[in-house]
Amino acid sequence: MASSAPLILRVVATSVNVANRAGEIIRDIMSKGDLGIVEKGKNDLQTEADRSAQRSIIASLSSQFPGIRIIGEEGESVSGDVPSDWKVTDSEPSVLGLSCPDNLKSIKEEEMVIWVDPLDGTSEYTQGLLDHVTVLIGVAVGNKAVGGVIHQPYYNYLKEGAPLGRTIWGIDGCGFGGFTVGSAPKDQRVICTTRSHLDATVQSALDAMTPDEILRVGGAGHKVLLLLEGKANAYVFASGGCKKWDTCAPEAILHAVGGRLTDMVKGEPYQYHAEVEHRNSGGVLGTAPGEDHSWYFSRIPESVRQLLSKPSSR
Ligand code: AMP
Ligand code: MG
Ligand code: MG
Repeated sequence: MASSAPLILRVVATSVNVANRAGEIIRDIMSKGDLGIVEKGKNDLQTEADRSAQRSIIASLSSQFPGIRIIGEEGESVSGDVPSDWKVTDSEPSVLGLSCPDNLKSIKEEEMVIWVDPLDGTSEYTQGLLDHVTVLIGVAVGNKAVGGVIHQPYYNYLKEGAPLGRTIWGIDGCGFGGFTVGSAPKDQRVICTTRSHLDATVQSALDAMTPDEILRVGGAGHKVLLLLEGKANAYVFASGGCKKWDTCAPEAILHAVGGRLTDMVKGEPYQYHAEVEHRNSGGVLGTAPGEDHSWYFSRIPESVRQLLSKPSSR
């Protein structure tokens, strides 16, 4: 089965299991207590969990799909030996068994790019806000985010006796799994946004949406989960701080269920080919399935749009 399924299904099916293994590594490092925190930049941390999860993910995917370019937040290559039990080779059968639309059936390795955020929500991880943490593996075909896996290693961690962790996945135009699509709030407007990268511009875009409630939570993956499960109507982040590895997987899954994720300058989906700029310099506007994306786009103040249009300003 595994070898005969179309490549896109094999890549996403393997990524589900690879993300699960990365989640175990992230939990192991937290339980040992030494996070090995390094400051990569202003308000931008890396821990031993980010580094180790990335090594496991890149080693697993590159050995099975050697022709696919893989771009990870913590680099593109793996130096030195990777423990053999970090290398995952099996895949999720429910993804392999999907029926693939014609346009995705014959995609080749050279046409794909995999964007990896081994640990999204690092700042929250170091502060013990563990359910904000996700592992993100996004699969682009040409320019477009097509497949995505979001693994939440600490899902249910406060519920005694409940199974710990979950993995959701989606392929635009093909299927999704691991979660139930929720309906976004009807009588109020709930907006989710950053909790650790707030500034005046981010706030002015939020104010322009006249929200009833703002959920300040960590991680791009976690915020898109709120949209997928009907806990928020929109994700609004007027900053160029998010990168392609933050949005590729979430965007693909959101699109697979009828939501949208675009920049705030042109209102277009991001491009994910290998040569693209890593920063999402036009900001992030995500809307839940059933929401009018164009309404949110139309509310963005012109001053915010102008700031986000400047190449390296934010
Ligand atoms: P947040 O919504 O603040 O949790 O950010 C979502 C993702 O974008 C995380 O991976 C952050 O590390 C990243 N991010 C957002 N803003 C910045 C920034 N100003 N500098 C570095 N990373 C950022
Ligand atoms: Mg991230
Ligand atoms: Mg990260």
